[in-house]
Amino acid sequence: MARKFFVGGNFKMNGSISSIKEIVSNLNNADLDTEVEVVVAPPALYLLLVRDNLRSSIEVASQNVFDKPNGAFTGEISVSQLKDSNITWSILGHSERRTILKESDAVVASKTKYATENGVGVIWCCGESLEEREAGKTIEVVSRQLEALRAQISDWSRVVIAYEPIWAIGTGKVATTEQAQEVHKAIRDWLKGVNDKVADETRILYGGSVNEKNCGELGKQPDIDGFLVGGASLKPAFVDIINCRK
Ligand code: PEP
Repeated sequence: MARKFFVGGNFKMNGSISSIKEIVSNLNNADLDTEVEVVVAPPALYLLLVRDNLRSSIEVASQNVFDKPNGAFTGEISVSQLKDSNITWSILGHSERRTILKESDAVVASKTKYATENGVGVIWCCGESLEEREAGKTIEVVSRQLEALRAQISDWSRVVIAYEPIWAIGTGKVATTEQAQEVHKAIRDWLKGVNDKVADETRILYGGSVNEKNCGELGKQPDIDGFLVGGASLKPAFVDIINCRK
C-alpha cells in the first residue's frame, strides 16, 4: 500500500495571535501538493484560532493530551475537548517533553493508547541523544521506546511515527540521508514484528532541522514518509517543505 506523504508542523511554545494568523494566511493562500497530508500543531492557547481560520484540508494537532477523561487534572487537555474542537491529532513523546518534563516511555505509551482508542491520531516521537548515538545505541534506544508503545497499543492505524534524533532538533545539524534512512529502515523492520500490514502502512517521519534545502533528498528515501518540522514550520519555507516532492 502506498503511504501518503505526511508533513507536520510543530510550532512548540512559539507565536502570538498576529504571527500565527500570518502563518495561517500563508498556508491558506499557498498552492499545496494535494498528495501530502499536512497537520499543524500550534500552542494549546491558539488551537481554536488556527482551527477556525485554517483551510479544512489541513488538520490541527495539540502538542500534548492527557490519558484520562475530563476531570480534576489541572493544566491538562482531554481527548474529548480536542474532538469537541475538531482537533484530530496530537504530538506525543516529543523529546522536549520526555527530557524536560520527564515523561517516561510508559506515560507516552499510555497517552498514545488513550488518544488513539478515543479517535485522535498521534504523531508519536522517538529518538536518541548524541551520547546514545555516539555509544552506538541508537537502534537500542528507539527499539526500547517502541517496545513500551507495543506493550500498550494494539491498533496502529492512528499512529504516525516521527524519528527525531535529539541532537538534530533545533540545532541546524540535520541527520544525513543515510543516517535517517538507516534508522527508518530499522523502525520498519521492527514494525514487521508487530505484523507486515503495520510495517507496510505506518508512516515514519523524519524530524530534526528539516528545511527547504534538505527536505528534497530526505524525502526521496524509501522509508521516509514525511517530516515533523519545528523551526521551519513557523516560516514561509514550510510551504516548500510540504511541496518538496512536487
Ligand atoms: C521538532 O521540534 O519536532 C523539530 C524537529 O524541530 P526542528 O525542525 O526545529 O529541528
